[in-house]
Amino acid sequence: MRMFQLCTCGQPLVASETATPQPKGSEVLLKVLAAGVCHSDLHLADGFFDLGGGKKLSLAERGMKLPVILGHENVGEVVAVGPDAKGVKVGQRMLANPWIGCGQCAACLRGDDNLCRAMRSLGVFTNGGYATHMIVPHPRYLHDIGNLPPERAAPLACSGVTTYGALKKVTTIKSEPTVIIGAGGLGLMCLSLHQKMGGHSAIVVDIDDGKLAQAKKAGAKATVNAKAADAVQQVMKLTTDGAGAWAVVDVVGSSASARMGYDSLVKGGKYIIVGLYGGDLTVSLPPIPMRALTIQGSYVGSQHEMKELMELVKAKGLPDVPVATRPLEDVNKVHGDLRAGKIVGRVVLTPAA
Ligand SMILES: [Zn+2]
Ligand SMILES: [Zn+2]
Repeated sequence: MRMFQLCTCGQPLVASETATPQPKGSEVLLKVLAAGVCHSDLHLADGFFDLGGGKKLSLAERGMKLPVILGHENVGEVVAVGPDAKGVKVGQRMLANPWIGCGQCAACLRGDDNLCRAMRSLGVFTNGGYATHMIVPHPRYLHDIGNLPPERAAPLACSGVTTYGALKKVTTIKSEPTVIIGAGGLGLMCLSLHQKMGGHSAIVVDIDDGKLAQAKKAGAKATVNAKAADAVQQVMKLTTDGAGAWAVVDVVGSSASARMGYDSLVKGGKYIIVGLYGGDLTVSLPPIPMRALTIQGSYVGSQHEMKELMELVKAKGLPDVPVATRPLEDVNKVHGDLRAGKIVGRVVLTPAA
C-alpha cells in the first residue's frame, strides 16, 4: 500500500510504501476510494490547538503517536475481512465512522464513543485514509453508502456528523431561526443539514462576502458580515422580535466568533461551539444564571448520530456542498491551499483512483 504519514509535526506528510495489512479478528480492510481533507488535519499536522493567551494544547500529550496516517473522512471498498468480522461483504462500499472509542467504558457502551476518554479515532490516533488501504477495527463502524458517490459521501464522516451533532442540540430548530457562524466547508454543510432537518431559517455569519454570497445561494435566509461594527445588532434584528438568537452554532470557534455568538443570544439562548480555530472567551458570570444562558461544546457525533445522518441523507439526499477531487499525491499541496483559505467547500482525495 501507498501512504502519506505524519512523521514530524510542522513538516509535510511523507510518502512511502509498506505491505498491505491483512485484517485480523473483527477487522475490515478497505481500499480507500475517497478521503476528505478536513481543516482539523492542519492542527493535527501542526501538533497542537491554540488555547488563546499564548497557550497550546499539545496533541502528543493527548495520545497522538507518530508516525500516523492522517485522513478521517473516508469511504472505501471492502477488500478483505477478518475471521470475526460479521455482516460485511467484500465489494461493499462503506463509509468509515472514524470516531471510535475504547469500546469498554460507559460512554462507549451507550454508543457515545465521541465522549470516550480514550478515543482511538481513525486518522488521528490510529491510521486513517491518506493511503490506498486502511484497516477499520470492527464492522460496526462501517455504513453502506449504497449508490451514493464516494467523494460526496466521505465528508459525512467528519464535517457531516459534526454539524449534525451540533444541530441536534438546537432544541428550537423548527420554531426559531438558527444562527450559523462560518460559511466555509463546515458552515455550508451545517446550512444544508439544517434544511434537511426541517430547520426554520438560517442566519449565516462570516467575514468573507464571497462565502456569504455562496451561503445565500445555498438557502440562507439572511447573511451578516461579522466585520461590521454593528454585526451583533444586525444578527439580533433578524431574530424573532429582534430579541436575539435562541441558538447559535459556531463552526469557527475563534475568540471573535465566540464573542459575537455569545453576545447575540436571547434570554434562554444557547451558544454551541463546534469549530476548533482556537482562542479564548471571557464572560461575566451573573448574566449566565440571570439570563439562563447555555454554552455548550459539541464534538463530532455519536454512533447513533452517524447512523441517523446516513438515514437522513438516504431519505433527503446528500448535502449540497461543493466537492473537488484531487489525487492522493497532492495531499501536501491541498493542505497548503486549505491553510491559505483558497478552498471552497471540500477537497476529497481519491487514493484508489
Ligand atoms: Zn474533521
Ligand atoms: Zn470508551
